Amino acid sequence: MHKTHIPVFDIVVIGSGPAGATTARIAAQKGLKVLLVDKRQELGAPIQCSGAVSRHALEELGITPSEEFIHEDIYGFSIYNQQGDKTEIDYQRIKPDEYGKGEGKKPLGYVVDRRRFDRYLMAQAERAGTEVWLKTEGLGYQPLEDGTCEVHLRRFNQEITVKSKVLVGADGLQSQVGKWAGLRTHIKLSELASCLQFIVDKVETDGLLEIVTGHQWAPGGYAWVFPKGHGYAEIGLGVIRTMTDQNAQWYLDQFIQKSFFKERFKDCRILEIQGGGVPLAHPLKKQYADNLILVGDAARHVNPITGGGIHTALSGGRIAGTFLSSFLKNGKKPTAKNLKGYQDQWLEELGNKMWKLYDEKTNIFRTKDIARQDEQLYNTMSSYFSPDSEYKKI
Ligand SMILES: Cc1cc2nc3c(=O)[nH]c(=O)nc-3n(C[C@H](O)[C@H](O)[C@H](O)COP(=O)(O)OP(=O)(O)OC[C@H]3O[C@@H](n4cnc5c(N)ncnc54)[C@H](O)[C@@H]3O)c2cc1C
Repeated sequence: MHKTHIPVFDIVVIGSGPAGATTARIAAQKGLKVLLVDKRQELGAPIQCSGAVSRHALEELGITPSEEFIHEDIYGFSIYNQQGDKTEIDYQRIKPDEYGKGEGKKPLGYVVDRRRFDRYLMAQAERAGTEVWLKTEGLGYQPLEDGTCEVHLRRFNQEITVKSKVLVGADGLQSQVGKWAGLRTHIKLSELASCLQFIVDKVETDGLLEIVTGHQWAPGGYAWVFPKGHGYAEIGLGVIRTMTDQNAQWYLDQFIQKSFFKERFKDCRILEIQGGGVPLAHPLKKQYADNLILVGDAARHVNPITGGGIHTALSGGRIAGTFLSSFLKNGKKPTAKNLKGYQDQWLEELGNKMWKLYDEKTNIFRTKDIARQDEQLYNTMSSYFSPDSEYKKI
């Protein structure tokens, strides 16, 4: 009788954002047989990200900065309080020999185009030997007696089952993969920033990421003005909806029309509107199950102060890919108990610092005194981005 052939992989990665594509690339480079799937037909679209990422984050992953995905070079930060007083951290001034536009100098970071960046990361994974299936949605998984698992997928319109030793859930904020394994992935509304940004024309920027704190402009979060290249800018903000009756759109209109930037914004034209949620939460307490680990937003590997998740997704992917390759080469059985080693390693390299940041954030918003909250957030943001910050590398 004819028997259906089931494709077999060492790891199957669900979601080809920065976390999934990096996990796949590193694991494939180290010799594993990897399948990377994403339900989208065009990665990174629609864009739900401002794209700010440090140069260090790319260097750490061996990613060569390229015009293919970079919108603009970044040289530092301006952090504003509610009234418009600012702390400027411009590396062109702080370390003029190292940072700048001239020969032999470098930027501090970049604003990347997420559509092109995600495609670039996926292409790197593919070149390393990963098999990539776009327009393929993860539907479920089932651990088997023999120590492997079945992964159920819908590729275009066809349902298909593959076998894998480990399934990696890199399926972003609204991750379903963790839920399949019964992990506690619930996120409190009070820790979910609702974000909206406009891509605009006719707003001058000067190579700095501008961050505006203050309950009046963005309760529980902050507003931003980022350079976008070609004379464009991103004006956006994130708010915690449990702290206000108004939504992000209302606050963004207020910020544009009434803030100390209103003169600067008065001629701006909106070219594109983007939005999405950002978890300002702690990392998941359990990021593993039988035959399964989570990485990136799916595991809440997001900086709970800044909401930045690209760097932590890339680093998490590196840790996951490296861990899985030595784990599987050692012939270990991928039980939940054994895969805990992934989380331990992640905590040691990155996670413990993220827990510390989460505690700092929680302390800021514990007080009911709004003026005090504002002051603390402004101070914390200013020291977070300062050159001697202990968190500089996340
Ligand atoms: C408005 C906004 C602005 C932001 N700005 C910044 C910023 O400037 N800098 C920064 O560092 N971070 C920023 N972030 C956060 C950042 O975008 C995320 O932290 C980052 O994208 C997380 O990467 P990831 O790979 O974990 O997940 P994602 O990038 O979300 O990728 C998940 C992938 O999984 C796929 N997927 C989901 N479910 C399935 C399924 N069932 N089957 C198959 N595929 C699936 C999706 O299609 C997607 O491609 C911002 C977020 C928002 C909302």
